[in-house]
Amino acid sequence: NKDNSSNTGASNNVQRSKSFAFRAPQENFSIQDFELGKIYGVGSYSKVVRAKKKDTGMVYALKIMDKKFITKENKTAYVKLERIVLDQLEHPGVVRLYFTFQDTFSLCSSFNLLHCLTLFSLIYCEDMALESCEGGELFDQITRKGRLSEDEARFYAAEVVDSLEYIHNMGLIHRDIKPENLLLTTDGHIKIADFGSVKPMQNSQITVLPNASSDDKACTFVGTAAYVPPEVLNSSPATFGNDLWALGCTLYQMLSGTSPFKDASEWLIFQRIIARDIRFPNYFSEEARDLIDRLLDLDPSKRPGAGPDGYATLKMHPFFRGIDWSSLRAQTPPKLA
Ligand code: ATP
Repeated sequence: NKDNSSNTGASNNVQRSKSFAFRAPQENFSIQDFELGKIYGVGSYSKVVRAKKKDTGMVYALKIMDKKFITKENKTAYVKLERIVLDQLEHPGVVRLYFTFQDTFSLCSSFNLLHCLTLFSLIYCEDMALESCEGGELFDQITRKGRLSEDEARFYAAEVVDSLEYIHNMGLIHRDIKPENLLLTTDGHIKIADFGSVKPMQNSQITVLPNASSDDKACTFVGTAAYVPPEVLNSSPATFGNDLWALGCTLYQMLSGTSPFKDASEWLIFQRIIARDIRFPNYFSEEARDLIDRLLDLDPSKRPGAGPDGYATLKMHPFFRGIDWSSLRAQTPPKLA
């Protein structure tokens, strides 16, 4: 089942700057400048809609924020941080933010009644125009295929590793890596999305505005239950190792069809995580089993990718034998289901 128990929380800290120029500008557009298409998905405080800009024909994924809800639930800082972080990231494996705009118009004049009703709650919006990922979520690919072959999983996992290396080098912890947040382009390459839980570390390359910081204390945990590492349940400070644990869970899910710590309730899931109760299906190769086992180490600093040699140990693991790391994005991805 799709685990939607996302509990977002962003963080404080890092470099602060008074004058800050966004790469992705805030434009003076309204929703009426776009031809709206299908709804890609619904998050806890936003809807993502396919939208073609009428004058240029460019297609975007508009992340339409439920501003009222965001204000009511005190999520403004998280939304601002997501925008600031996305604005400064530039990597083929990270969903790109093109521009933002503030929209206060009703959609009804240019749109049919059904869409109008669906989007009615979003009249007051602060929206993001993101790169459109037409291939949908990796989660849906796994669901459609039942499970992925090792070759397919190897390719996807390699693209995620390549993107995570970039994100970690920027001094950011994503904190919500899971198949739902790994989106596919039309040609089948992976992009990491949803930076609503991101945490910049002290030495981050990212500039965070003072009013974009937020407080973790109000949250019990950040991320999604099935992918949360044990140290987060023990209230340890966030580290890059958090994402590597989630990567281990995601790879397990690609190969088996379900997350390793699946259970009937969040509480039971947490018990299994703390007890590190992992059962590997017998069709996993020795290499896959070994990599997942290492990524799911109880000690976050021992997970491949978290050690002093950075990502070298992870990329050199036998599971990734045959992967050409320098040309990943030029390679032909697995066929979409
Ligand atoms: P939450 O905010 O609760 O963590 P979420 O990550 O699902 O949830 P959103 O970022 O609002 O929230 O995205 C909602 C859904 O829209 C996603 O699950 C995804 O399927 C889809 N989506 C998000 N961004 C894009 C994109 N750039 N291209 C295509 N679809 C997208």
